[in-house]
Amino acid sequence: MKDYPKPLPDINGDNKEFWSGCKAHELRFQKCRDCGHVRWPPSIICPACHSRETEWIISSGRGTVYSFVIYHVAFHEGFREEVPYIVADVELEEGPRLLTNIVECPHENIACDMPVRVVWEDVTEEFSLPKFRPILP
Ligand SMILES: [Zn+2]
Repeated sequence: MKDYPKPLPDINGDNKEFWSGCKAHELRFQKCRDCGHVRWPPSIICPACHSRETEWIISSGRGTVYSFVIYHVAFHEGFREEVPYIVADVELEEGPRLLTNIVECPHENIACDMPVRVVWEDVTEEFSLPKFRPILP
């Protein structure tokens, strides 16, 4: 766990709350206090109405696969052992779309609109990454 071979997030003032949430196994997103838009990535102003009034909410962690690809080429040395793997855009119930991995899913089963829920990968002392697995019927 100490020598994690893949890139890790760069923490800044905007995304600190998101990554702190991940460490606590909570998906936290900014919600505009004026228009209610829930956004990702984090930003100072609401992209829908330009308000600066923001609160952080905790997502249910449930969503659907909006789009996906299966990577067969490792574009970074750290992923060499992992190919092929699924990269997906998951649309959360609250609205934001998160670029992530689908895990615990046979590759022939992946499909758009598939219901998924968050699972956590504790990769270092500081970071837990949100990934998603199918919600079984
Ligand atoms: Zn707004």
